[in-house]
Amino acid sequence: MKLDVNALRYLSKDDFRVLTACEMGMRNHEIVPAELVDRIAGLKHGGTYKVLRNLLKNKLVHHDCKKYDGYRLTYLGYDFLAIKTLVNRGIFASVGRQIGVGKESDIFEVATEDGEVLAMKLHRLGRTSFRAVKSKRDYLAHRRSFNWLYLSRLAALKEFAFMKALGGRGFPVPTAVECNRHCVIMSLVPGYPLVQIKELQNPDVVFDTILGLVIRLAEHGLIHCDFNEFNIMIDDDETVTMIDFPQMVSVSHRNAEMYFDRDIGCIYKFFNKRFRLTEKGEQDGSETDEDESRRPSFQSVQRSAGSLDKDLAASGFTRKEQAEIEKFIDENAEEAISSSDDDDSTSERKIEGGDAEPVKINSLKITDQDSTGVPDLIASDSNEPETSSE
Ligand code: ADP
Ligand code: MG
Repeated sequence: MKLDVNALRYLSKDDFRVLTACEMGMRNHEIVPAELVDRIAGLKHGGTYKVLRNLLKNKLVHHDCKKYDGYRLTYLGYDFLAIKTLVNRGIFASVGRQIGVGKESDIFEVATEDGEVLAMKLHRLGRTSFRAVKSKRDYLAHRRSFNWLYLSRLAALKEFAFMKALGGRGFPVPTAVECNRHCVIMSLVPGYPLVQIKELQNPDVVFDTILGLVIRLAEHGLIHCDFNEFNIMIDDDETVTMIDFPQMVSVSHRNAEMYFDRDIGCIYKFFNKRFRLTEKGEQDGSETDEDESRRPSFQSVQRSAGSLDKDLAASGFTRKEQAEIEKFIDENAEEAISSSDDDDSTSERKIEGGDAEPVKINSLKITDQDSTGVPDLIASDSNEPETSSE
């Protein structure tokens, strides 16, 4: 998705006030009645309506008058609220090029005041999975927490909590810097996703390292659930970093074994196809089967390392949130499994970056006038859960 942060610089205090009012209204309305936006924003002389027109022009809100005159935030509007909050907190000062388009996210480079470059992941739950879910709309209409804004925020919070906890246990993951709304700021991982790597000096070593990670995760009570060539980064020294954690589940999940086997299976399949590890075994005179018999099984993993539950709670991710997002993931996983079957469900993903032209980083110095924007409304900065409709 195009993210023209320039517009952010021209938005006034009132623009942000009304945008925040829309966000607050969305806690219990899919479409927020214009009157409610006006009431929350509390601008004088019908100012809200004028501002709404400006926000609409900039595609920060969407106008819907099917049932009543109302508005909802667009992803862009939500992006701007998160970016503004993080910039005001001094987490970063500018936004650069897009470095990744994930299944359910957009990744950008951002830079701090000191010039350090970090990665910003904007979660976009609903971009793919909700398409499938839409067919179940009747059912979802009755669900209290069905709200892309809420789910994207949960996904970000979960990812942040897992990244922090895993980093704390010495796993090779990006450093978790900050989280706001649907946005996670983390260190920039050097290198490229494994899917872009055509050749490795030591494919066997990398293969063992990666398998070792799946096993170590399980020893800590966790399964990645999307462990594949898109979510493993390799740098020039062939150092491995794993990314992308919103879908992780506990080894006590009812489908744990299937997820574990699928993660391991993805790695085997990719390495066999790209680096011909098994064929090499055949040339050595050893059997392919032998390689297969070494394949780690869920049953063989010892849960020795203790569970990460405590670390996760310390990062602000509660059991209730865990349960809610797992429920959503389960529903989508069933769709995904039935629609993807054997060939990689990931093949449709577009990968950008790598050799993309570096683009000038847009400075986001926000003027004094802006930085005072809606302090009384911005309580929603905190990451406390927000069950949508009552
Ligand atoms: P999704 O959940 O949408 O799949 P990912 O977290 O896997 O999103 O990110 C998508 C792509 O963005 C990755 O394949 C990778 O190329 C890039 N990316 C993500 N996080 C980082 C990071 N911290 N540093 C560098 N590149 C990243
Ligand atoms: Mg990914």
